[in-house]
Amino acid sequence: MKIRGIAEDLLLGLLATAREVDASHGREFVAVLREEDGVIREFTFLPFESTPESASLHFELMPLDTHIAGSAHSHPNGVLFPSNADLRFFPTVGRYHLILGPPYDRRSWRCFTADGTPFPMEVVP
Ligand SMILES: [Zn+2]
Repeated sequence: MKIRGIAEDLLLGLLATAREVDASHGREFVAVLREEDGVIREFTFLPFESTPESASLHFELMPLDTHIAGSAHSHPNGVLFPSNADLRFFPTVGRYHLILGPPYDRRSWRCFTADGTPFPMEVVP
């Protein structure tokens, strides 16, 4: 699956949701990203347990879905790099992984491949 980019409205929705979860619960936000025709266009919440330090998904509940492109989650501490736990988690849920952080604006996110390498994900209007 070749990914050309992420839809701008989806990205803004992720940032808004992560901001709200951070503001109301002080917690990480975690979602699975889906692509259609090579563009990431949807996200799905999964049941997860979260503290300010970590979040983990219940993968046994994840549907088999060939359109899963990766994940997005927030770091309320603003460190936009994968943690060691993230690097174990990324390969289990696709190839592209967004990390979002305060202030959750258009520039406060980064994309990484499953091995933690920064990836210049394009934003598609
Ligand atoms: Zn993380």
